[in-house]
Amino acid sequence: MKLDALVEFSNRYGANPALVLAGGGNTSMKESGILYVKGSGTALATITADGFVALDIAALHETLKKDYPADDKAREAAFLADVTAAKLPGQEKKRPSVEALLHSIFPQKYVLHLHPALVNGLTCSQNGEETAKTLFGPDVVWVPACRPGYVLGALMQKRMAQSEKAVDTVLLENHGVFFAADTVEGLDTLLRGMLEKLEKQVQQFPEIAGTVSDEALCAAVAEKMGRACACMSCGPTALAFSRSKEAAAPLLTPFTPDHIVYCGAFPIWADAAEAIVPTDAKNVIVILKDKGIFAVGDNEKAARNAMTVFEDACKIAVYARSFGGPKHMSEDLVEFILNWEAESYRKSKG
Ligand SMILES: [Zn+2]
Repeated sequence: MKLDALVEFSNRYGANPALVLAGGGNTSMKESGILYVKGSGTALATITADGFVALDIAALHETLKKDYPADDKAREAAFLADVTAAKLPGQEKKRPSVEALLHSIFPQKYVLHLHPALVNGLTCSQNGEETAKTLFGPDVVWVPACRPGYVLGALMQKRMAQSEKAVDTVLLENHGVFFAADTVEGLDTLLRGMLEKLEKQVQQFPEIAGTVSDEALCAAVAEKMGRACACMSCGPTALAFSRSKEAAAPLLTPFTPDHIVYCGAFPIWADAAEAIVPTDAKNVIVILKDKGIFAVGDNEKAARNAMTVFEDACKIAVYARSFGGPKHMSEDLVEFILNWEAESYRKSKG
């Protein structure tokens, strides 16, 4: 009963494709020292009270005082063990969102974390931080791109502690945004306010919808990639990016961890379907000269899912033009995500 409000706004935001794609985004609520956070592998659109994991907030905060090993694998394993130990009795079978610690840092009752394309047009842009300060004022916290999991939680807490006022909005470079409020209406107001301000700044909007897919070409791409299915994006935006390898350049390296998890890190550019050469098993996206963008998968649903997430990358690339041009993830960060255990878990459950 007590999670009704949490379930309501999770479902509402989760059902809006402009805000939530694939497994992206999560929500939480706090009550009497307990954090109820979205379980890993659940979908916001359909989550029920049972999909949330109850964690002891004090135990989560203890992790911020710890000295974890510097080695990535050792640190994330030790941190994961502590997060697991913070679960309340009866929660053993559930796995909390990898971003549970981040939710616990906000003192407010409700927290909403999203990766909307419009917001990521800003967080994945050259002038993102500067523009955020101008548009939203000094109280909106900006967190530079860093390793997800514990490192991000610790950095976010440090940045928030530097602010004099209670922080209700945090922008994460190459990732997304956090909103926190004591009421659900408060969350709605924060989100709406940010989207309205950003929309006014955008000089060029993506045009994703396009002509009917070329089935024969899809079949040829799928065959070359050694996969069962391919679908294509051939709206004005996809066609503009597929004009030349130079035009496609903003899409050839990833913007956020989501794009790596669902689309692979590096799309393939090819002049024609016959020229496609898959470079590794994780290749999912092909940009074909003057034809459009293709996503492949072992079935229609997987291909469609990857296409939707990659169309999100296309939108980000277009929006970022209004904020000084695109800024991608660093090579080091891409490498980390490719090896990250928690992300691969999420994909396996997705
Ligand atoms: Zn996130």
